[in-house]
Amino acid sequence: MITSKQLLLGATGWALIAALMGCGGATRVKLYVFDGGTLHVPDPARFQLKKEDVGATDLSVTCFLVVHPKGTLMWDACAVPDGEWTPTGSPVKHHLTLPDSQQRDITITTPLGSQLAAAGFSPKDITYLALSHYHYDHTANANPFAAATWLVRGNEHDAMLREPAPDVTRPLTYRDLRTSKAVIIGTDDYDVFGDGAVVIKAGVGHTPGHQMLYVKLAQTGGVVLCGDLYHYQAEHTLDRVPTFEFNADQTRASRKALDTFLQQTGAQLWIQHDLEASAKLKKSPAYYE
Ligand SMILES: [Zn+2]
Repeated sequence: MITSKQLLLGATGWALIAALMGCGGATRVKLYVFDGGTLHVPDPARFQLKKEDVGATDLSVTCFLVVHPKGTLMWDACAVPDGEWTPTGSPVKHHLTLPDSQQRDITITTPLGSQLAAAGFSPKDITYLALSHYHYDHTANANPFAAATWLVRGNEHDAMLREPAPDVTRPLTYRDLRTSKAVIIGTDDYDVFGDGAVVIKAGVGHTPGHQMLYVKLAQTGGVVLCGDLYHYQAEHTLDRVPTFEFNADQTRASRKALDTFLQQTGAQLWIQHDLEASAKLKKSPAYYE
């Protein structure tokens, strides 16, 4: 006969074993960081900053892969389409002319597809694609992920697909998403896998439907990938908003809401374009968990 005390001990024992095996409670989530190169910014004036306000004027380009037991999520798609340049093994300086005639120079070393493959994945393994926003330096390799389900806010979706497209975009880099299965996000928070471990959060203002990603990692703790809510740390410390926001007041409100969230959760803020901070992150095939 099994007594209630034995049952209790049994349950405790199983919980202990599960914890030791790392499968109790916290979901095992991995976060891979991909290096999308260095975006050259000779003068940060378009961010309402002076050279002396920032450590480095150049910006990093990063995109990310989240691997969850229930699926995978690609977050952002970097700045240069893999098909537009030839890797040499050394850094390659790539010049871009945007449809609105703005010029950009980006130094890149490894194609996104190669970095994804090094982590053991190909685009067909990706369940969800989410872009922080529609600017060219986040959409470049979106087309290869068109078979994934696109997680996007309604106003961002509509702005991306209307003609003429908004400034600072390259619509050809995401044109295949027109036929993707899409989930139109209508709430501030969207819990991707239903367990609170991977949550897309509204961060509107930079673009109409700009969003951020919160990832809860068992060892690293919570991380917020903030898209372009910030580009430089100095935007936070000096309270500066870029000159080219869709709605600067919305950006300020989104920053305030994020500050509160970071305080409540103790999550780290990862500024995706922060050159010095991104240089310190371990890159795929290494990962955070
Ligand atoms: Zn950007």
